[in-house]
Amino acid sequence: MSRAAVTKDLVAIQARDLKMPGLGRVYEALARQAREEHWGFEDYLHEVLSAEQTSRRDSAVRHRLHEARFPEMKTLDTFDFTATDGAVNAAQIAELARGEWIKRGDNVIFAGPIGTGKTHLAIALGVEAARHRRRVLFTRAADVVRSLLEARDARELGRLQRRLHAVDLLVLDELGFVPFDRHGGELLFNLLTERYERRSTIVTTNLAFGEWVKVFAGDEKLTTALLDRLAHHATVIATKGKSYRMRKRANKEDAAGDAIAEPPVLPKTARKA
Ligand code: ADP
Ligand code: MG
Repeated sequence: MSRAAVTKDLVAIQARDLKMPGLGRVYEALARQAREEHWGFEDYLHEVLSAEQTSRRDSAVRHRLHEARFPEMKTLDTFDFTATDGAVNAAQIAELARGEWIKRGDNVIFAGPIGTGKTHLAIALGVEAARHRRRVLFTRAADVVRSLLEARDARELGRLQRRLHAVDLLVLDELGFVPFDRHGGELLFNLLTERYERRSTIVTTNLAFGEWVKVFAGDEKLTTALLDRLAHHATVIATKGKSYRMRKRANKEDAAGDAIAEPPVLPKTARKA
């Protein structure tokens, strides 16, 4: 074995040992290129370290995306802003995607009817935050409340609260679908109070603010205080119109020229408080 070959193997082992997979992948090819193009030693070292940096950044982002537990992948580039009846402004979403508001601990609320892209946008902004290496957690409001109640019963509430507080961006999806009892409402209230002005939250909801009290067991005082904290430094985006999928279907059927333009009117299923 030539000395060069031995060194090559040693570097591969060192890269593994030092946990530098990016370096391990590129050092040989870059060495060849360096020899051909007569790079200085520092230039070679710089290129190899840059590859390692990129690799670490990529794996940190992958890790953040994994931790976030998005139910499915949705990104901004698949969102059709022209299909929102002008309710969602592309420039505003692009600004939110930059994530300055997360540094400030501000919030975003998407409110509107079913199928109008609220969850899509919430996930997409979460993905952008993860790409900026923020700690993100996606959960349905009912699920996090259930977890909090379970943790309380198991005397592990403090631990869960600390974990939830450590998240830079909490996405609370579907607030309003399932009402909470008094204890559940209080735990959610405590969570949002703890995060207030320090950590960001995205809420998606099908309810108008006036209807939120229904979700919190009719507790006006708690609901007002919670809305106060949530909305104080919040961007509120009200989506509107028909569900995107219905729209797509209607468009297709229109194009085919043989169908009803309007979907059948469904009975209102909203519960009365
Ligand atoms: P909501 O949370 O408001 O009920 P979703 O975000 O779940 O609605 O949207 C329902 C489906 O329609 C999802 O698959 C979503 O990706 C898609 N969708 C909704 N609005 C748009 C849009 N403007 N552009 C692209 N896809 C959309
Ligand atoms: Mg949704």
